Amino acid sequence: MAGIAAAHRLQSSASSCFSLTILEASDRIGGRIWSREFGRERVELGALWIHGIDGSPIFELASHIGAMDSADQPWEGQDGFLHHGLLRTEDGEDVDEKIVAPVEEFFNDLLTEMKDEQSRAPRDQTVGEFLRNRFCSFLADQQCAAKSAQCPWSDEKLLQAEAVFRSKEYLERIVTSADSLSDLDMTGYQEYKQFGGEDRTIAKGYSTVLRELSRVLPDGAIQYKKKVEKIVWDQEGTTSVYPVTVVCEDGSVEQADHVILTVSLGVLKQATLPPSVNNRATFIEEKVGDDAVIAGSFFDPPLPVWKLDPIAKLGFGVVNKLFVEIEPGNGRVHKPLRLIFKTKEEEQKQEELAAAAAPGGCPQLLRKCFSIHPINKMSHVLVIWFVGREALQSELQTYEDIVKGITDMLKAFHFPHGVCKGLARSNYCLLEKPLTGIIIRPSTVLTLANGNKGRCHVTHTEPIHCTSLPYSHFSSRVIATRARRSTRYL
Ligand SMILES: Cc1cc2nc3c(=O)[nH]c(=O)nc-3n(C[C@H](O)[C@H](O)[C@H](O)COP(=O)(O)OP(=O)(O)OC[C@H]3O[C@@H](n4cnc5c(N)ncnc54)[C@H](O)[C@@H]3O)c2cc1C
Repeated sequence: MAGIAAAHRLQSSASSCFSLTILEASDRIGGRIWSREFGRERVELGALWIHGIDGSPIFELASHIGAMDSADQPWEGQDGFLHHGLLRTEDGEDVDEKIVAPVEEFFNDLLTEMKDEQSRAPRDQTVGEFLRNRFCSFLADQQCAAKSAQCPWSDEKLLQAEAVFRSKEYLERIVTSADSLSDLDMTGYQEYKQFGGEDRTIAKGYSTVLRELSRVLPDGAIQYKKKVEKIVWDQEGTTSVYPVTVVCEDGSVEQADHVILTVSLGVLKQATLPPSVNNRATFIEEKVGDDAVIAGSFFDPPLPVWKLDPIAKLGFGVVNKLFVEIEPGNGRVHKPLRLIFKTKEEEQKQEELAAAAAPGGCPQLLRKCFSIHPINKMSHVLVIWFVGREALQSELQTYEDIVKGITDMLKAFHFPHGVCKGLARSNYCLLEKPLTGIIIRPSTVLTLANGNKGRCHVTHTEPIHCTSLPYSHFSSRVIATRARRSTRYL
């Protein structure tokens, strides 16, 4: 999206000043935006929501091209059906609304308190610590009330309350993409702002926005399967008339005056983190104050420290989605199912059992999921979101393990299940050569969400200021421009 948007802006505003090329590593545009057909429906294997439509340029463009509504096909996330689902424990018991309502209200109030910059939510606590500390007080109050017979909650109900709270934590993990809410620092959490107005999905598919943006590009401007491996900037201009040389994995070389680099933060980290992280032997280490910043061989010369520093410090998390087509028995429709898993102790027991069992472990993988729900009211296609470690693991599971895991899980939850006819899943992390740059060793990357490694200015998005301006990083693709003569977009 970032690369196509930058190319669109340049092509629309100054096409006579340069020619441009976009080098894309995969065989399609869109990256983590990918609308696809599955189970006779349109699903979004990546981004689904426009988070807040007021002032959103994506909403403006999607509305302009008539992509926000579709009369002929139901689409993912439409019709607000999510609010009227089952809320059930893994023993198949529906959770008492008298427990659910106060716990959810309490949780939502905590979120509001944390998001309010004026609030007194302690800045020295992580989001996870804050939620847990406050919930412990809440439970203690309920226990006291139970003892003095003011509260009808039995021990069992208190455990259910905890399970409901935990499921809300799992939802917040999806929202923030954090492996653990204890990885999120409070200030970073408060800094996240979204557009106002409702969240909407794009009826004709998110990819229509990208197709529209790319329509202005000249034929052949996008080159596919061109994975950039190296960008060389000849500052003195001694070797070529073009100061920038871009080398691709297939050995091809592009030359340009200017480069805009829009690869994801994960790819940037991969190109600049120490060899111990991604086993690339060609890194040069530099010391910057107390922080070790590593410059890799992707950039020649290496990026300046003021760019490397935020790349090293900024954190991110990972999410994945899994779609499964299940024809319900008796022609019924599926209801959204909120998954309320057992208490910590029971969960531990379950984990031990799973560890002792044969490899596969799909049910374990599913135990931190928030819900499984049809993508729209009448759909037979259900979706599950994974986050953090589970998002990585979901890519390693075999088709059979996942089908078995979901079938077993739905059975345990007494969900009116049917025959699983197929599944589709996103794979953004652990491809052999990941293009979103999630590194296979989770412990090194998954603790970073929202920059708890230290505050930093987001300077990695600014151009390198110098006389000839060769690199700039937006967010996801490498772009090189050649003023007046030729322009290269990668
Ligand atoms: C499952 C999932 C669900 C999401 N849901 C939402 C949502 O509901 N709402 C929302 O706003 N956001 C959502 N997001 C986030 C959103 O998809 C991303 O923030 C956005 O798509 C990122 O766009 P980008 O252009 O920055 O990066 P990407 O989409 O990652 O694009 C990077 C591009 O660079 C290419 N590339 C990488 N390395 C190289 C190289 N060396 N050479 C050449 N090309 C290269 C890649 O192939 C890719 O095309 C979701 C993400 C995921 C994974």
